[in-house]
Amino acid sequence: MLSKNAVTVLERRYLKKDADGKPTEKPDDLFKRVAQAIAQADKEYDLDADVKQTQDIFYEMMSSLKFMPNSPTLMNAGRPLGQLSACFVLPIADSMEDIFDAVKNAALIHKSGGGTGFSFSRLRGAGSSVNSTGGVASGPVSFMKVFNSATEAVKQGGTRRGANMGILRVDHPDIIDFIQCKKNTTEITNFNISVGITEEFMKAVNEKREYSLIDPHSKKEVKKLYAPEVFDLIVTMAWTNGEPGIVFLDRINRDNPVPKLGEVESTNPCGEQPLLPYESCNLGSINLDALMVKKGGEYELDYDEFRKTIKNAVHFLDNVIAVNNYPLQEIRDMTLSTRKIGLGLMGFADILYKLKIPYNSSEAIELAEKVMKFLRDTAREESCELAKQRGTFPTYDESIFKSQGLVQRNATVTTIAPTGTISIICGASSGIEPIFGLSYIRNVMDNDELLETHPYFEQVMEERGLYSKELMSKIAKEGTIAHMEEIPQDIRDVFVTAHDITPDSHVRMQAAFQKYTDNAVSKTVNFPREATKEDVRKVYELAYDLGLKGVTIYRDGSRDAQVLNIGKVN
Ligand code: UDP
Repeated sequence: MLSKNAVTVLERRYLKKDADGKPTEKPDDLFKRVAQAIAQADKEYDLDADVKQTQDIFYEMMSSLKFMPNSPTLMNAGRPLGQLSACFVLPIADSMEDIFDAVKNAALIHKSGGGTGFSFSRLRGAGSSVNSTGGVASGPVSFMKVFNSATEAVKQGGTRRGANMGILRVDHPDIIDFIQCKKNTTEITNFNISVGITEEFMKAVNEKREYSLIDPHSKKEVKKLYAPEVFDLIVTMAWTNGEPGIVFLDRINRDNPVPKLGEVESTNPCGEQPLLPYESCNLGSINLDALMVKKGGEYELDYDEFRKTIKNAVHFLDNVIAVNNYPLQEIRDMTLSTRKIGLGLMGFADILYKLKIPYNSSEAIELAEKVMKFLRDTAREESCELAKQRGTFPTYDESIFKSQGLVQRNATVTTIAPTGTISIICGASSGIEPIFGLSYIRNVMDNDELLETHPYFEQVMEERGLYSKELMSKIAKEGTIAHMEEIPQDIRDVFVTAHDITPDSHVRMQAAFQKYTDNAVSKTVNFPREATKEDVRKVYELAYDLGLKGVTIYRDGSRDAQVLNIGKVN
């Protein structure tokens, strides 16, 4: 069932290895190891629990590729490291001790395969005074470079490349430096950066007026800036090379389930998981493509199986919290106080092909809302059942759920992750993203070029007697079939790729999923190379209007090292 690519990925990083680096387990052993380690948690709540039965359920769900937990769980469950979460947020207070404690803590997290998010907003601005030395502070951007170097060094020995999110509030005195800090694309490479946008700032942009920059220490205004100009600069930089992204901080905090525990000031590296300082979260994703069944010759989504998988996945992720080995006591305490989990999905673009629904249609938006509402409602149902057996999360009485009378075991249940690696393992399209190319060239290690085609597209082309290597190569070069007259219109209508989808449709799809997602949605809004700054601005404004928690854009060809190119995949 696993593809060749899936096996390669598992062998490279996920399977247990001996001293010579030879795998000592097979992919199937990995699923058994993970299922066994995670099922153990049942005993913590019920001494008579049938752990073997739970283990079998978890094993079946992973080996059939219906559900996959985030990478650290696959790598580390049932092994000495035992660190299972993908996402962490660490606080950085304004002192040397605190800054370098955070550097150290981040290094420990990266070593175990987790990603870290930080807000640099509490650090005093560059040029402000340092009492103990009489010197001047160097400011957030200079410290980001320290975190970046530490990440670079840990990369070599760790389980995977460490990733960071750096956020600065738009009202921080150093905001202009921050917005431009990745202008030189060879610097701060281990960070994604986002500007933390406030409601006050958006109001100032709309009213075309100045807003205040506030010193994080004295809380006094240090300067005023003309908001539309700052917004312009953000748009210009994002247009230039895709960064900074933006996150709507006030909006994220409006949805903070336990406001009494503090303010959310950052997300994890890919932006889908806002967290409180020291909080961690474990993610897992359901592969919709594995839930498709054929009835009367047509594909449909098996909602009974979907429902079962959601319930088992919530059980799985709640167990992960119990058996997780936390890198720090503070992280353990915070994570156990809210018990946040993030269940999402992958394979959405795959099932649209099978259902003959174009990604950029209102039908696709309707399906997105239906699927995600079903996922969230069922996940909450299971979280409620777990609460009855195991108790609510400890801070439940102070949470927004208490007043709503919604009994929950977990303060959040849904997140749409990028599923960068686990979608390769499952052979599914990643997260909710459209397919990037129906056919593409993959460069393999010895410089051979392999032509790969989306399996379902290939099947349909073969069934219709249209498949040929030459045609697939042509598609790989062009990136889209929209204009290819040799392909029948009905196929061209359904098999749309990222390049056929307008930025507006990308954002609307993200909003459809966000509507039923407790945390946030990982999504890139793709622009063609010739898009203008005005186009980017419109998308940022639309993202705000549609209630998104943040947005990330990418204009084709605007960065030297592009992860995926039309025609070529490394
Ligand atoms: N992540 C990371 N390093 C990576 C990839 C991912 O730290 O190289 C973290 C990061 O917090 C990201 C989260 O894992 O937001 C989920 O990413 P993804 O879904 O792509 O991970 P997967 O489980 O597929 O490996």
